[in-house]
Amino acid sequence: MSSCKVFAVAALLFLNAGSAFSTDKTDKLIALTFDDGPRPYVLFGSKGDHPGPALLNVLDENGVKATFFVVGWRLSPKTWGERRYEENVGVTCIDAAEQLVRRGHELEDHTYSHIELRGAERKRGEQWVIGDVNRGAEAIKAVTGTQPHYLRPPDWIISDDARRDLERQGYHLLTISQENPMALRDVNSLDYLCTRKAAECPKPSLLNAVLRQVEQREKRGVYTHILAFHELSTTTAVMPELIATLKARGYRFVTLSQYMQLVGAKP
Ligand SMILES: [Zn+2]
Repeated sequence: MSSCKVFAVAALLFLNAGSAFSTDKTDKLIALTFDDGPRPYVLFGSKGDHPGPALLNVLDENGVKATFFVVGWRLSPKTWGERRYEENVGVTCIDAAEQLVRRGHELEDHTYSHIELRGAERKRGEQWVIGDVNRGAEAIKAVTGTQPHYLRPPDWIISDDARRDLERQGYHLLTISQENPMALRDVNSLDYLCTRKAAECPKPSLLNAVLRQVEQREKRGVYTHILAFHELSTTTAVMPELIATLKARGYRFVTLSQYMQLVGAKP
């Protein structure tokens, strides 16, 4: 090989290394999000017959700050969750929410009632829907002192009119709509399918199904992902490996507001 060719190859390698470096440092982002809490038995770990790891500890041990789309009614005094399905571990939802904020996580709006909003709008009108979103925001503000900017409607379902009016109020709505750029579209982990029977869980496993979605997005040139999970013990169980795998692939974990700043869609 002539010296000229060697130089050209070296320059090419250098340029490639440079672009790979900048992608790693600035562009490979994960915003980890958890819906439907605060659920103290998930955040602090179950103490019952099936003791499980505490999601808050898992996040702390991995140095990950996440974003929690919480349900407003849970932030009423002395509530620790749904008595039929959830375990009382001696921590109220409000205490759990305060703990989340203290540990550097973000709280965002998942409505007050957690009712499917399009159906609710048909029955009770758009003003009721807007009111339920605002009531959820007020419950968060009472804990954090700041107005939440992001709204994830339950099951991502909301009418176009209500969406427009909430956006006019300043909310940024999370979406799985194909109309939005892929980087701003939630990755639906389908983790709620894993709660009752393993057979209903995405195949071959929740972890691999999420990684496969990430890989499919990478094939389309997208290296930033908002991952939508729920506050569930089964989800907590896969978090250590998911976080480790994505970190090994060069991903950095950020809160949703950091993600939006970096990806360029401020609320
Ligand atoms: Zn939900």
